Amino acid sequence: MIIRNVAAALPGERDFRRVDISIKNGKIETIHEAGSAGLTDAHEETLDAQGLMAFPGAIDPHVHFDEPGFTHREDFLHGSAEAARGGVTTVIDMPCTSMPPITSAKALDEKLAIVQERALIDFAFYGGINGSMKPEDIPGIVQELAPRVVGFKSYFISGMNSFPAVDELQFASAAKACATVGRPLLLHAEDPDVIAESEKDLAAMRGSHRPTWRDYYASRPKDAEIAAVIKALKLAGQYAKYLHIVHIGTSKAAIVAANKGATCETCAHYLAFDEDDFTRFGAALKTAPPVKSPEQKALLWHQLAQGQINFVTSDHAGAPDYEKFTDNPLTAYGGIPGSGTFFPYLLSEGLFAKRLTLERFLEVTSGGAARRYGLWQGKGSLIPNKDADFVLVDPKRTTCLTPETMFSKSSITPFAGMRLAGHIEGTFVRGSCVYASVRLAAALRTTCKGAMSNAAGTICSSPGYGKFLTWGYR
Ligand SMILES: [Zn+2]
Repeated sequence: MIIRNVAAALPGERDFRRVDISIKNGKIETIHEAGSAGLTDAHEETLDAQGLMAFPGAIDPHVHFDEPGFTHREDFLHGSAEAARGGVTTVIDMPCTSMPPITSAKALDEKLAIVQERALIDFAFYGGINGSMKPEDIPGIVQELAPRVVGFKSYFISGMNSFPAVDELQFASAAKACATVGRPLLLHAEDPDVIAESEKDLAAMRGSHRPTWRDYYASRPKDAEIAAVIKALKLAGQYAKYLHIVHIGTSKAAIVAANKGATCETCAHYLAFDEDDFTRFGAALKTAPPVKSPEQKALLWHQLAQGQINFVTSDHAGAPDYEKFTDNPLTAYGGIPGSGTFFPYLLSEGLFAKRLTLERFLEVTSGGAARRYGLWQGKGSLIPNKDADFVLVDPKRTTCLTPETMFSKSSITPFAGMRLAGHIEGTFVRGSCVYASVRLAAALRTTCKGAMSNAAGTICSSPGYGKFLTWGYR
């Protein structure tokens, strides 16, 4: 296949370059100045992409697709369809929100057997380290899973019975074990003692009144994030550079992590919303940690632009109405189904709004995660010999995010109704179109194989097309 006349976002360039891209066997074969090279083979399928931009496919390294075990919330078919709609070509799924959790090779085998029949885009897994493990058993668990996972996930505070939080000994053991096998150790960093203290104070002040969204917000303060990151770095000691702090909402926590060589991510919702939005969105905005103040939001954008925050993820976690709208902010399910919205949001509010340079935009949506999780040789940028994973965007059109255009099982999201600059016309994984807008589907004359389509576009790949990726993939 040949993509002609496309304005491509190439690594190391400060601006787009108009090129022709040829694709062979799922890989990028050549990239030449538009019209310059002898790409004249009349038998090749050619797409004239005049007026469109090409970006590396987004990598969303933090999703909860919940399969097997919690598929009333999400599954790989709907989750990966929604990701593809939003320009994502690779997801990395968390170990804690499927059953059994991924804490053994046997559990991974079971999950893989199911997921590889269902995924529409490429995927990798994390292993899990939790509070049910003896510290001395953790190195063995890490060794066993390391060849097939790209990192390990742990929690300092957990709302999941099937995946309890780790204590200090377990965490220190995990940090050393992960360093030994060269895998990042991911941490949900909120300090349980700080949160317990805040909850106690708030309950006393509230008396017999019902909890409000303000109570939920105030129960998980900035200090909980900062204290947890400080503690994690201390416990990890010399292995700090193997730590990765997930979904940071507090600027200081990112600074503390970066200063010790750890990496961190934030999520689109921490950049888009703040505490004042709880009155408007309620449960649709509930995540843990919660979004913080308008001031924190501005600081996170700044740090993302500077590189103290390494990349952005969605923390995709949907749930049905009955788990979201419980009439009690403290019991409502926390999570936003965001894999389809994080790339369009960052494209509009990061790149087009000039909060991020082109180089930083590429790093935070694909390159950073590809490097951190051992996928860089095969994914994460548009260069010859890497997989032909890319997104075609029409910069002149706009996108209105609506539940009707989403493919995820749940569409309860604070991003609904948001109007964004730019419109995704197509998402390609290893050279095949996995999602096409109505306009691109007509141009490519493809038929829908994924049996999912809506007013915005069509899923073009079959369930099972997605490939299982491991560390060092090329
Ligand atoms: Zn998560």
